[in-house]
Amino acid sequence: MTGTEPAVRIDTTRPHPARVYDWYLGGKDNYPVDEALGRQIMAIDTGAPRAARSNRWFMQRATRHLAGATGIRQFLDIGTGIPTEPNLHQIAQSFAPDARVVYVDNDPIVLAHAEALLRGTPEGVTEYVQADAREPGAILEQAARVLDFERPIALSLIALLHFVADEDGAYDLVDTLVEALAPGSCLVLSCMTADFEPENVRQGIERYSAGGVTLVARSHAEVGGFFRGLDLMEPGIVSVKDWRPDLARDESPLGDGPVSLYGAVGVKY
Ligand code: SAH
Repeated sequence: MTGTEPAVRIDTTRPHPARVYDWYLGGKDNYPVDEALGRQIMAIDTGAPRAARSNRWFMQRATRHLAGATGIRQFLDIGTGIPTEPNLHQIAQSFAPDARVVYVDNDPIVLAHAEALLRGTPEGVTEYVQADAREPGAILEQAARVLDFERPIALSLIALLHFVADEDGAYDLVDTLVEALAPGSCLVLSCMTADFEPENVRQGIERYSAGGVTLVARSHAEVGGFFRGLDLMEPGIVSVKDWRPDLARDESPLGDGPVSLYGAVGVKY
């Protein structure tokens, strides 16, 4: 692990997004406060676990595409979350055992599980950095110990940016990170939107705020703003469930109804 060694202090009195998400995915790394918030959200929108799963599959399809057809060998994943198999490095390294992967999260519980994220191939590299996305300079500095910024990198910000408000620098942090990437690099991003189910999402945001968690929904145009200067890959900015379903492996049927997360991949030329 790189970076200053933070004390692992897990606050179990307040819900945390990584743990609520883990609860939706059926994981065990969550506390009663997280389950309580998860249940409140499900009372409004029974599709929340479906959205979490659908988002996870988007990550898997995008990584498959970038490690496979696109041939990218370096990955910087910010807002990694609690490990859920298959993790990004497992997919990337199944295409290219020498793939280099840097994971970043700011939640101590993810740090506590980092060991599971670091079991990569002997030919490749998997590293974990404990850092905050709102400090992209510090992330770039630490990632550069493992990744070669002269060569293409897939930067993934998956289900991260809805936890960062515009006034906390959501757009600036993306610009700073993308600016540091070499041509041929890609930005993979998903974030929440109220475009499909405005009322459910509004109520969900209220519950998260009451739990002390910032949550922001962004429109199609606002998500497009993250891709300034990049070329979007087909099919553009769509609900995560509709992004390249042809790349799916082992996905079970999700059922009908919208998934309120946009996903997209852009390329830097
Ligand atoms: N990317 C994973 C997990 C998404 S959950 C997936 O899509 O499956 C969102 C993750 O972002 C959580 O693990 C949370 O701890 C992390 N996160 C939220 N705000 C962050 C910030 N400011 N800096 C770094 N990580 C953050």
